[in-house]
Amino acid sequence: MQEIKLKIAVQKSGRLNEDSIELLKKCGVKFNNGLGKLRASAENFPLEIFFLRDDDIPEYVADGVSDIGIVGENVVFESNGAVETIEKLGFGKCRLSLAVPKNFPYQSLEDFDGKRVATSYPRILSEFFRANGVKSDIHTISGSVEIAPGIGLADAVCDLVSSGSTLFTNGLREVETVMQSEAVLIARKNLDAEALKILEKLLFRIKAVTQAKQNKYILLNAPDEKLSEIIALLPGIKSPTVMPLATRGWSSVHSVINENDFWEIFETLKNKGAEGILVLSIDQMID
Ligand code: ATP
Ligand code: MG
Repeated sequence: MQEIKLKIAVQKSGRLNEDSIELLKKCGVKFNNGLGKLRASAENFPLEIFFLRDDDIPEYVADGVSDIGIVGENVVFESNGAVETIEKLGFGKCRLSLAVPKNFPYQSLEDFDGKRVATSYPRILSEFFRANGVKSDIHTISGSVEIAPGIGLADAVCDLVSSGSTLFTNGLREVETVMQSEAVLIARKNLDAEALKILEKLLFRIKAVTQAKQNKYILLNAPDEKLSEIIALLPGIKSPTVMPLATRGWSSVHSVINENDFWEIFETLKNKGAEGILVLSIDQMID
């Protein structure tokens, strides 16, 4: 009997490609993603990987060409593919924003009334304008949206932004956020039982990897008389591990901490006498 494989679509090249592949590899899925490959079969997991343009992924998943996919939420919302978002993946973070030329005296959304706005996201933008009672003239273009005002094609743009440097170099100013986006795992509705079983197995691993990314393993040396105060700062998964050091009166404390919290408490730890603080990344984490 032929082994049933779950089919996953990832971006062939572009901003999500590397992180998508790294995620699968951290999930222990081995495959050859050589340059120009269109599909690959995993060696040690029932998974077949398709490398596609990101815009096509929601439709391929909805049509059943692929069972699941990794793509930006912005692309999912723009497509009308009947897919389900299963999990946020924590990479590819950006926002879809409205931007106007620097000399545009922008005050509020009403300023877009009657204006020509260039975007590759007409569906999301028209919904946003409709919800806010704005009547603008949306021009759909498929790329290089940021140059549209400069060449007289539009009065404003609605485009993806992360740092804002592309807008800045093109003399544009970001004025409103339409949506926040990040890469998500999507799946076709009504997957059959076999495919669902494989998806659950993969999802368990994905969660272990994404959770690990937000956390750090922390080790430090603490004077015994300050142990209880230091432990209180480091709750860990269950509770921290405490081991005596060879030097009397000192202990080694190991715990897991949210990456953002570390910078908040690291000075307090030092003030309480903690020394030799090491912070390591975690590859996988299962509660
Ligand atoms: P493809 O050739 O696959 O169609 P593309 O050029 O449409 O690729 P990319 O520019 O590679 O797409 O972006 C893919 C996704 O990365 C976007 O849809 C978005 O979700 C995310 N992303 C994150 N930051 C940014 C950014 N600053 N600009 C554009 N996209 C971003
Ligand atoms: Mg694209």
